Amino acid sequence: MRSVTGLHHITAIAGPPQENLDFYAGVLGLRLVKKSVNQDDPGTYHLFYADAEGRPGTDLTFFPWTHLAPSREGHGLSVEVALAVPPDSLAYWSDRLERYGIRLGPAETRFGEHVLPLLDPHGLKVALVESEDAVERPFSPWEGSAVPAAHQVRGLHGARLWERDLAATTRFLNDVLGFSLYRTENGWHRYVLQRPEALEGSKGAGTPSGAFVDIRETPTVARGAWGVGSIHHIAWRVDDEQHQLDLRSRIEAAGRRPTAVIDRFWFHSVYFLEPGGVLFELATDGPGFAVDEDLPHLGETLVLPPWLESARSAIEAKLPPLEHVESHRS
Ligand code: ZN
Repeated sequence: MRSVTGLHHITAIAGPPQENLDFYAGVLGLRLVKKSVNQDDPGTYHLFYADAEGRPGTDLTFFPWTHLAPSREGHGLSVEVALAVPPDSLAYWSDRLERYGIRLGPAETRFGEHVLPLLDPHGLKVALVESEDAVERPFSPWEGSAVPAAHQVRGLHGARLWERDLAATTRFLNDVLGFSLYRTENGWHRYVLQRPEALEGSKGAGTPSGAFVDIRETPTVARGAWGVGSIHHIAWRVDDEQHQLDLRSRIEAAGRRPTAVIDRFWFHSVYFLEPGGVLFELATDGPGFAVDEDLPHLGETLVLPPWLESARSAIEAKLPPLEHVESHRS
């Protein structure tokens, strides 16, 4: 049975969409590869940022639910998204982020990697991680970015979760999704999608996407709650529909309750709660973001899935205007 192959995308809840766009496209220099709406709540944007080609594994997406309260950190939630940047680029990033007034945490070393923690404009915890492994992965630099290609974000690196009961989630990650425990450091348990020994001193021997989950067991804190600045769900890659169905069966056999396959148009999705309550998704690699827009023009216009096209004018009237500032060049 094949395991998931890495991170596909991570979706978070943002505040005002213009501020979200200004930060992720303007400051972090990602490409807005799709401007769409939440398919279950079409009055809200769904903004997708990725590399120039919108590859799975590079994609960070947002629902700007500005009416929500700030999130409440707690167990059963993912509390941080880690983005891979090339080795020796954190000095560049801390200069750039300070220039834009971004709130930075002190630099850290985690599991031997150099990490710069920061808060996005709406309180989402983001960590930039220098990663040799990510440099080896397929990546297309975005020429419209204000960030030089040598420093651009290479994609998703991992995510951090708080869980009330480590054992239940560990079992599920091991037996169903194919992770194994790498190491424990400072209270964080790191799980990876490859044999741990392949990590040591390896260059590019890993999976084609970020494949880390760090978990802290927090038995005494309250359940976390979604809100502005929280991660909504974590999507894992599957190769195709058959792979997705196979894993869906295994998830069901493990006592979880996966949804039916949902057509998200750019990929097919299955959602489920892992045993600790974090919302996970299985997302297929294809068909991808170029299925309904030409690659050079991804993200330039509002794209609706076909079943919402007849309501386009009503949907557009509800959405706040969004000015796509190509980049902050300075
Ligand atoms: Zn998703």
